[in-house]
Amino acid sequence: MEQPRHSARGSHAAVVDTKESTPRDFAEEVGFLGLTTMFRRLKDRWVSRICTSIPFDVWQTIGGVDLVIPYWHVVCDHDLPHVSELYRFRSIRQFEADVDFFLRHYSPVTEQEVIRHLHDGSALPRRSVLFTFDDGFREIHEVIAPILRTKGASASFFLITSAIDNQHLCYPQKKSLVIGALARGWSGTALDEVARLLSSAGVPNDSSVVSRIRGVSYRQRDVLDDLGRILECDFQKYLASGRPYVTSQQVEDLLRQGFAIGAHSVDHPSYADLSLDEQLFQTGESMRWISERFHIECQSFAFPYRDNGVGPDFFRSMFSEGRLKVSFGTGGLVPHPFRYNLRRVLVGNTDLTAGETVVRRLARSVGPRLAATMRRQSTTWA
Ligand SMILES: [Zn+2]
Repeated sequence: MEQPRHSARGSHAAVVDTKESTPRDFAEEVGFLGLTTMFRRLKDRWVSRICTSIPFDVWQTIGGVDLVIPYWHVVCDHDLPHVSELYRFRSIRQFEADVDFFLRHYSPVTEQEVIRHLHDGSALPRRSVLFTFDDGFREIHEVIAPILRTKGASASFFLITSAIDNQHLCYPQKKSLVIGALARGWSGTALDEVARLLSSAGVPNDSSVVSRIRGVSYRQRDVLDDLGRILECDFQKYLASGRPYVTSQQVEDLLRQGFAIGAHSVDHPSYADLSLDEQLFQTGESMRWISERFHIECQSFAFPYRDNGVGPDFFRSMFSEGRLKVSFGTGGLVPHPFRYNLRRVLVGNTDLTAGETVVRRLARSVGPRLAATMRRQSTTWA
């Protein structure tokens, strides 16, 4: 849930368009998409062409990245109402192509190998990949793990502890269901009440109702329950019948299969909106819960949304206890100032293939990596 929203509907058949634009294409795009969308798509096509015209190994050499950490949320061949209005996701075929790309260019490693590399200095294979997945949807057990096992790759799954066993529907899932419900068609009175409730909750009245719902923050999340009542979204019924998250039994099975389980907070807040004490609680409590529930030593944590707004005091405090060995943020391939916080590449939320996504990230990381290398000689959070 860390990415700009694209409609998931129809995304499964989407492929990267590498054809030249014809005048008819152009006219259709002007007519149906609007200028902003059209120019963004044209820019994306040309950037893709430029990036893909250079061999991947050249980009890899230029980027100088030894460990790539992609992440996904869910893989599914059908609509998932609890995420479809938030972001796109891969079909099984698309995900298999993603994994094949990484295994063609990188050696898969486990979370433990990465931890030993960070803390003990043990070597990783040149060009390594660690597969990671956020939010703990049931598909990690039913779809993703079997594919990875078939292909001989490990992975880390980061779980929201309040959602395990479908005890709680997290607020991003409520947003998706509420937005989906809006499409059913409602009276002006109902829509007026939706707008009024959003304003009462402090959501700025500066965009469409759908955008405003997407903009509901963690602290404003109670309004989603009110919207659900008006728009006849029974969240408890959805949890009970749809069972979107993994069960404890499924997590135990993943552990038996050799996958790593890490924490992804208690209830998925944006850390930039939290105080330091709240950040430490969300992290420590979710790690403690997983450790005790599954009788393991949970050593990893992935930030919900992104690692922006998390300062050096958080990292010093969390890592000084010795329990947390590695954390995972966003930001692609640009290194983080704290050496045990590893940045990741989001895959699957656009039409881009995994290769195109990584190439773009490599291209964007060259300048920042050079700057970070120079800065690190005098400034580091570690
Ligand atoms: Zn998440």
